[in-house]
Amino acid sequence: MIKYGELTTKKENINLFISILKKNIIKKLENEKIDLTYDKSRMFIHCEPNKFEEVKEKLQEVFGIHEFLIGYKLETLDLETIGLEIIKLIEKRDFKTFKVETKRSNKTIEKTSLEISSFIGAKILKNTKEKIVDVHHPELTIYIELRSKESYIYFEKEKGLGGYPVGVAGKGMLMLSGGIDSPVSGYLAMKRGVKIEAVYFESPPHTSIEAKNKVIELTRKLSKYNTEIKLHVINFTEIQESIYKNIPHNYLITIMRRMMYRICERLAKNNNAKIIINGESIGQVASQTLSSMKAINEVVKIPVIRPVACFDKLEIIDVAKKINTYETSILPFEDCCTIFVPEHPVIHPDSKLCEEYEAQIPFKELIYNSIKNHEIIKIETKIKKDFEDLL
Ligand code: ATP
Ligand code: MG
Repeated sequence: MIKYGELTTKKENINLFISILKKNIIKKLENEKIDLTYDKSRMFIHCEPNKFEEVKEKLQEVFGIHEFLIGYKLETLDLETIGLEIIKLIEKRDFKTFKVETKRSNKTIEKTSLEISSFIGAKILKNTKEKIVDVHHPELTIYIELRSKESYIYFEKEKGLGGYPVGVAGKGMLMLSGGIDSPVSGYLAMKRGVKIEAVYFESPPHTSIEAKNKVIELTRKLSKYNTEIKLHVINFTEIQESIYKNIPHNYLITIMRRMMYRICERLAKNNNAKIIINGESIGQVASQTLSSMKAINEVVKIPVIRPVACFDKLEIIDVAKKINTYETSILPFEDCCTIFVPEHPVIHPDSKLCEEYEAQIPFKELIYNSIKNHEIIKIETKIKKDFEDLL
């Protein structure tokens, strides 16, 4: 039984939220034999008890689930039968103290929730050996929920990821480098219901195939939460070389990032994405001072969301470890940003100067070409083995 959590506060959108959550869960569990039913407050997934572990692991990767309970459905409201079933179900469990907690959404049942709990508790005590009721710190809690015609018995409550179902907020273009910050940003955006497509800028032969495979692997790790991610790979070599040859080196990074933003905005338009997402964090490097962010952001109209803007590096690393991208991110392959790094990048870039410098290169044409020829890779969680071998 799935509890939706935060999405129940969005009254006017609730149907959309539930239908997207349902779609995401069905996609996530496409290889399992399940049956799914739902109403406005709960979703139920029915499967064989021997599949509980697999289903549980997969549900823990779906945003929009606040909590889920694992247990059994009985087609009865008869308390005698329910008591007997519970005794059978707890037979193999190792516990001494227990308590029963009852919820009655069906108010036509005569007994109150408390009365039902003590009735079932007494029955358990009578039919088992050496069990003790402990309402404060029980080793086993038996949850009973009585609904219109059926009842549910649970022994385990699991925390879900929370957030909103991926897709309810629309789509965003994630600038995904091989670093630590951008995968974390992608994860946090998905948590708020944003479906993502990713963009990676490569500069062969200055950047290696290993660097690209690393980004593919990061995309695969993120696709766990998005079910599938389209990765747009932009060949940035010509643009970068042209900037390197024609523009004062202290402005290399600023101009390069302005080009990246322009390309991302175009890709976002072509793919119906409403925002750009990236891993910029205030003050982390010269291109992420507030003045740099302003000079870079100026070239686009699309909103740019920076989920880790106010995180410390250690906080970002904590999330990266939790979502298992950290180990991949710290692999030592050069990214296109790191190979053309000037010794003294400008910290307070001037927009007018940026425009003057940019006029030295045919950037519109270069951008057009890079988008026209770009590669798209569709990445699903499943293709794991191939890329692990490559890394
Ligand atoms: P990360 O921020 O992901 O750890 P980084 O710190 O090396 O990597 P920065 O140079 O700080 O990257 O760039 C800031 C942000 O710009 C990145 O988080 C990412 O969103 C975007 N970015 C940088 N390089 C690339 C690239 N080659 N392809 C796509 N996006 C990039
Ligand atoms: Mg960074």
